[in-house]
Amino acid sequence: MTTARVVLVTGGNRGIGRSIAERFVAEGHRVAVTARSGEGPEGTLTVRADVTDAASVDAAFTEVEQQLGPVEVVVANAGITKDTLLMRMSEDDFDSVVATNLGGAFRVVKRASKGMLRARWGRVILISSVVGLYGSAGQTNYAASKSGLVGFARSLTRELGGRGITTNVVAPGFIETEMTASLPEATQAEYKRNIPAGRFATADEVAGVVTWLASDDAAYISGAVIPVDGGLGMGH
Ligand code: NDP
Repeated sequence: MTTARVVLVTGGNRGIGRSIAERFVAEGHRVAVTARSGEGPEGTLTVRADVTDAASVDAAFTEVEQQLGPVEVVVANAGITKDTLLMRMSEDDFDSVVATNLGGAFRVVKRASKGMLRARWGRVILISSVVGLYGSAGQTNYAASKSGLVGFARSLTRELGGRGITTNVVAPGFIETEMTASLPEATQAEYKRNIPAGRFATADEVAGVVTWLASDDAAYISGAVIPVDGGLGMGH
């Protein structure tokens, strides 16, 4: 039986973040999500935050602390893509993706670390992607931001590992979301041929790994990159 914790998931209004929040609620935790629009799933506290803005992140944490208590588990999930070939990639295409995916994790985890250090307990979970280490043509900005999370997590493990705080990276492969559902059938079939599991994952399959990393059973795992990709990126 895992202890009930205060959990904050960024980008919990839709997609993978929403599934992660649902799973934490189902396991009996007190869960807050950040959203720029919309609401988190039933049973969660929704707070507004833009992860590219430190003041907005700080205000969101303060609200969660007031309503639920200090954040013990933080899941940096909010992310964007702006795919295009390098030759066509603008400064903004690169900067905005890095500012959201990598800078966003920095801002959120920095703010969360205050309470975790005080409690001498914490779980930091960063949602990366198979693309971070496997690479993907047309996604140099996204892949750079996602592999950056690995160096960030491993350095944080060395900084805070002695204070009861673990930091891990979850690297999903292709997940059944609106994005993958809108791909032509032939494209989906082509992708699936390259995945040893022969299928995409559900968002809940990612969520289950995230809640396990937050559990007491995963207390001795830190600085790890856990793939949830059906074998697509193995060896990385
Ligand atoms: P979605 O596009 O469905 O959701 C992205 C979430 O991030 C939304 O809640 C969005 O909020 C939020 N977000 C984006 N920018 C910001 C910002 N500046 N501040 C605050 N929140 C922001 O994405 P997915 O669920 O598909 O992906 C979730 C994570 O998983 C991402 O980090 C993604 O890179 C990663 N991933 C996804 C894969 C997939 O196959 N889908 C595969 C591998 C990794 P809003 O609704 O307000 O825009």
